[in-house]
Amino acid sequence: MEDPNDSFAEEIAAVKEDLENNDTAAAAAKIREYLDKQNNVPLNIAITGESGAGKSTFINAFRGLSDDDEGAAPTGVTECTMVVKEYPHPNYPNVTFWDLPGIGTTKFPADKYLKLVEFEKFDFFIIISDTRFRENDVKLAQEIQKMEKKFYFVRSKIDNDIRAERRKRDFSQERTLSKMRENCIGGLQEQGIKSPQVFLVSSFELHLYDFSLLHETLEIDLPAQQRDALLRAMPNINLEIINKKKKAFQSKIKYWATLSAAAAGAPVPGLSICMDLSMMVNVAIDYVVGFGLNKPSLQKLSATSGVPYTELLNVLKSPLAAAKITPELLLKLLSQLTSTVALMALEEGSRLIPLIGIPLAAGLSFTTTYRALKYFLTELADDAQRVFKRALGLNTSV
Ligand code: GDP
Repeated sequence: MEDPNDSFAEEIAAVKEDLENNDTAAAAAKIREYLDKQNNVPLNIAITGESGAGKSTFINAFRGLSDDDEGAAPTGVTECTMVVKEYPHPNYPNVTFWDLPGIGTTKFPADKYLKLVEFEKFDFFIIISDTRFRENDVKLAQEIQKMEKKFYFVRSKIDNDIRAERRKRDFSQERTLSKMRENCIGGLQEQGIKSPQVFLVSSFELHLYDFSLLHETLEIDLPAQQRDALLRAMPNINLEIINKKKKAFQSKIKYWATLSAAAAGAPVPGLSICMDLSMMVNVAIDYVVGFGLNKPSLQKLSATSGVPYTELLNVLKSPLAAAKITPELLLKLLSQLTSTVALMALEEGSRLIPLIGIPLAAGLSFTTTYRALKYFLTELADDAQRVFKRALGLNTSV
């Protein structure tokens, strides 16, 4: 069955052909190219809305930054200029957020506004408002639609609304949220948007309300490679996101393992293990960063959640988390892999060999790499779950 997490499914055919022709160098180069390309797929997200609507705060939260972090978008500043500001994701600079001025402040008609902000380069638009959506938002959305681009409405600062409603005696969060959603959708429909997609979000609490629904919707709408790029850049707002990241990483392990197998066929003795280790260091770093388990990400999480950094460190079990990952550290861990874990993964790895069609002699390196990466990934995903739960003050037993 085709793996929905695997955007390279078609391209593997070419690799298979090279391997069947014993051209391991060409196969390795192709795999490397695919994996590198995937890490660099550009994703450009335009955020627009009137000054004070919460654009900068949303951009910072999405990037896992506090307002006072270096590189954070300045918040609470009234802007009246036509300046478009660019905020790359700190870990994945291929994912960029663009802070666009509110169409109202620029006084340009929607079509001119879109030309000025160079709308072509954006993959989709998020139109933010902290009140009901107004004529300007609607005009802009209609113009974006004409340009055949996607847009989503975000109603921001929901925590404020919930807090205000909570004072009422018959308060129900569900009821309040669905009423707000209906109001926003109804208002937009009245102004001529057929089926508006509205998401209720608090940038102070991305794990609550509709932010995860926004992600699920984008996942459906985006092409596979951009979907992957978005997933990598997503903050860990729930356990499902962590699981999806794990699955996405998992789907690539067979390619890394094939790369090792290709290296094992290389004519220079000893080259294979060096290549495997330096490749594994890079992949392990990718896992650690992807799960937000590197030091800077954990420090940011500590700042945004208010949970002391040392308490976050306390729930980590993998020696790779919050550590400097070196070939020596990996070698040490590899030698500690217990035989049960090793055997389980070995069996799974061997089943994949005929699938990819690599020569049997390369099997050992394939399975070693496969089982090691799978082991690192599982441990780090578990750590990510524990850190997520600790940051929210939940029970951390995975
Ligand atoms: P921008 O001008 O659209 O970039 O708006 P900012 O991001 O600077 O936000 C304007 C003000 O709204 C700031 O004081 C933010 O702290 C506040 N704000 C933004 N998002 C939220 C939110 O989700 N909840 C609450 N309560 N306040 C927010």
